[in-house]
Parts: sequence; C-alpha cells; structure tokens
Amino acid sequence: MSQHTITVAGVAVDARHWIGGERVASTRTFPDVSPIDGSTIGEISRGTATEAAAAVAAAKAAFPAWAATSRAERARILHAIADGVEKRIEELAIVETTDNGALLRSHRRGVMPRVAHNFRFFADWLLQLDHEDFDTRGHTNHVSWDPAGPCVLITPWNAPLMLATWKVAPALAAGNTVVLKPAEWSPLTASLLADIAAEAGLPAGVLNVVQGYGSEIGDALTSHPDVRRISFTGSVPTAKRIAESAAAHLTPLSLELGGKSPLLVFADGDLDLAVDLAVEQYDNAGQVCLAGTRLLVEEPVAEEFTRRFVERASALKQGDPRDEATDIGPNIHPRQLEKIDGFVQRALAAGARAVIGGHRKEDQYYAPTLLTDVAPDAEIVQEEVFGPVLTLQTFTDEEEAVRLANGTRFGLAATVVTGDPERAERVTARLVAGTVWVNCFFVRDLQAPFGGSRLSGVGREGGTWSFDFYCDVKNTVTAPKGWKDHG
Ligand code: NAD
Repeated sequence: MSQHTITVAGVAVDARHWIGGERVASTRTFPDVSPIDGSTIGEISRGTATEAAAAVAAAKAAFPAWAATSRAERARILHAIADGVEKRIEELAIVETTDNGALLRSHRRGVMPRVAHNFRFFADWLLQLDHEDFDTRGHTNHVSWDPAGPCVLITPWNAPLMLATWKVAPALAAGNTVVLKPAEWSPLTASLLADIAAEAGLPAGVLNVVQGYGSEIGDALTSHPDVRRISFTGSVPTAKRIAESAAAHLTPLSLELGGKSPLLVFADGDLDLAVDLAVEQYDNAGQVCLAGTRLLVEEPVAEEFTRRFVERASALKQGDPRDEATDIGPNIHPRQLEKIDGFVQRALAAGARAVIGGHRKEDQYYAPTLLTDVAPDAEIVQEEVFGPVLTLQTFTDEEEAVRLANGTRFGLAATVVTGDPERAERVTARLVAGTVWVNCFFVRDLQAPFGGSRLSGVGREGGTWSFDFYCDVKNTVTAPKGWKDHG
C-alpha cells in the first residue's frame, strides 16, 4: 500500500490521478471531508493544468487503437467493467456514502447496480446501433457513428459514480477515450472505477481520472484544444464558464444542469400517491437535480394534501446515512448548508410560512422543510436550493397550473398527478421539460432521451442520443455500379 492510499471503511482508495495507466501524484493536495461527521477522510492529489495536459495527451495517444477496436471487443470490456462493479458493490457503496453522505441502502440496492447497468446497457446498445440504409435516386446512404476523440467528462457530487458512469460508458462504447474529473467534494469512487476498468482489461490511457478543483484542473481541461467532446453535469454558473472555454475551439458540449421542477397535483388524482411522490422529493436530502421541489396543488384538495404530507414527512427519520432505518442523511458540505439556509431565511423574511422545518439541525443536517405563502416570482420559487426544501402553491384551474409549472427559467422535469388521462395528455403537451412523469416519479430508462430545456441544459443523452453526441455521425453516399454523374 502506498503513502497515497486512503483507507475508507476498510477499502483502499488511491488518492492520486490515473493517467495513461499509471498513478500520478500532484505536489499539492486538497482535503476530502465526510459529510457524516465532518472528519477528514484523506488528502487527494490536487491537479492543475499540468495534469490536465498529461491526461488529455494520454487520452489522445490511446485514441487511435481504441477507436479501431471492434464493437464486439469494446462491448466485451464494458461488460467486464460491469462485472467488476458488481463484485465490488459493497465497497463502492460504503465509500460513496462516506464521501457524499447519501444513503448506504440506496447505494447498495439501487445506485451501484445501476452503475453496472450503465456499462451493460451501452455495451449492448452499441452492438445494435444501426440506421437502415436509404436510397437517393439509386445511391445508397449509409449512416455510421465514428468515434470522435478524447472526451472530457465533468461530474457533480450528488450522485458521483452514477452520473460519471452514465457518461463514461457511452463515451467508451462509442470508441472514444476519456478524461473524467469528479467533483472535489466526492472524488473517491472515480478512483475505484479506474482500478476496476484496468482490472477489466481496458487499455492504458483509454480512461483517465484526474482530481482537483474546477477552477484549476477543470478550466484547463475544458479549454484544451485536443478535446473533442465535453459532457458536464452540474450547476448553471459553471456551465456558462465551461461554454466560454469550449467556445475557443468550438468543442461540442452536452450540459445537464439544475432544475426547479414542478409536481402538479390535480383534485381528480390519487391523493395518497401524490403525497407519496411529494415526500419522495426529500430523497438524498433534496440534492437531486430532478427533484419536484415546487408542489402545485389544486385548491379543493390543498388542505387535505398538506395534512397528509405533514403526517408523512414528520415520520421521516433523519440521521446517519449508514443506518438502514435512515430516510434522510446530511447535506454535502457546510457551504451547501449555508446556501440552503440562506434561501430559507430570506423566504421567511419575505413572508413565507414554514409548514414544517425551516431551520438547520445539528451538524450537517437540515430539517425537511415545506414553505407556503410564496409568490410565483419569489426567489425560493425561482432558484434551485438543492436541499430538503419544498414550496407549496395552489392553483384553481388547468390554465393556472400550467402557467405556474412553466414559470421558472428551468425545464428539467415535471410530474403530474391526475386521474384523467385526457387532462394528462393536454397538460403534459404544454409543459416545458426534458422529462415528464404522469402518476409516477424517477422512472428512468437508459434508452430514453435525458436532458433539460431552458437553463436546465443543452442537448440530450441516453440510448442513441448518447452515441449521436459522443460520435462524429457520418453519412456515406455510394453511387450504383456504372453510374456516371453528368452534372
Ligand atoms: P458545480 O457546477 O459546482 O460542479 C460540478 C463540477 O464542475 C465539479 O466537478 C466541479 O469541480 C466542476 N467545475 C467547477 N468549476 C469548473 C470550471 N470552471 N471548469 C470546469 N469544471 C468546473 O455543481 P455541483 O454543486 O457539484 O452540483 C450540483 C448541481 O448539479 C446542481 O445544480 C444540480 O441540479 C446539478 N445536477 C444536474 C443533473 C442533471 O442531470 N441535469 C444531475 C445532478 C446534478
């Protein structure tokens, strides 16, 4: 074990970068702190432009051979990575929970199996990726998805390995090489992924993992001229910075950003279901981009909805995320907690009423909060809080419901609870959102397009959309035998 090894709940994690198939240390480090108890987990290599350049160079050098590898061989290696993830689910789960404070039981049963599925899905999708040839006056058009080159993937801390592999898997499947930079608040599982990929036989340089701050190594990666794709998941302000860096070389971008999604409850809907779905929005301590944080409830059922919601929400158990019985864990960082509380206190000062919560608890925990008496243009209704904070507004008819639902600068997702299929059709057709759920929430098939409208993002990933983004899509037109173009 090297001096750079951190032991997390008995699991050895290398704190260095993974570049060109080797561990590389920076001279400086940054501390990685657990949100569970504020303890320092370890010191992580703090990359700069030097490591960014080395990682992109490694990705560039490895690209021709990986791009030339057959689809079947790439798929085989991706499945081997999935096998490696499945073998280490327990380890990945406890490391991720220690690092970002999300529930251990979710990591064990939902998230890490999904990480493996990310690799399996894109491996299998690659093998059947096809577009039927078509004819233009006897000429054959053939569409192919050519690998694009080195891809920079930058990811946030709220679902670190899940969001990283949702990009890594299609990028590798497409025949690209990758430089992954995980968030500095949750860097550990990306390092474990590098180990797993190497053990699975992924050639050196095909996947590189670098650590550090966005303003240092992140900027250097996104402005690098040899990068052919940038896929980013994170906040709107960072996305704008990245878009500026990418503009220098017109590097194609995919941006998956924040949200302020509505959850619409119509009086003709199943109220118990509506309450279940509303309480679910506190998952991951509210640190979910897709969360339906704006509860929009039809007037006649608002009182009863609120009564049942308060009953259910008050029974949620908040505490150590490693405990099986815990429903809500800590928030990621003291700075994030400050931000959440700032939003809530400003809302209360502006006249909002806390139906439940509205305050910090001990350590890094924030009381699940529901605020009402909020104006449509209030900051708390318009801005993403990214904590366990929901607002409740009422509406009197479908028209008002749609107006409120579409009344922010975001457009990531929306949920509609109604018992009337015709209403569902009318309302969903008018909602501005990348994903709309009717009488359900968080059902996400990897073959579906995923992304946001307005400030919630640029582009779509998922299924063929991922390959469209990560590839140079080419159309080859072949003339019939003996054909001569006489102009
Ligand atoms: P963030 O924008 O602060 O950071 C995300 C990543 O960007 C980190 O790895 C960070 O180091 C890096 N970064 C920061 N500055 C950079 C720069 N100048 N150049 C390059 N990289 C830079 O976001 P966060 O706080 O980590 O994540 C929370 C946000 O992510 C929320 O807005 C949430 O809604 C969003 N999110 C969106 C989705 C989605 O799929 N739409 C999913 C999860 C989270």
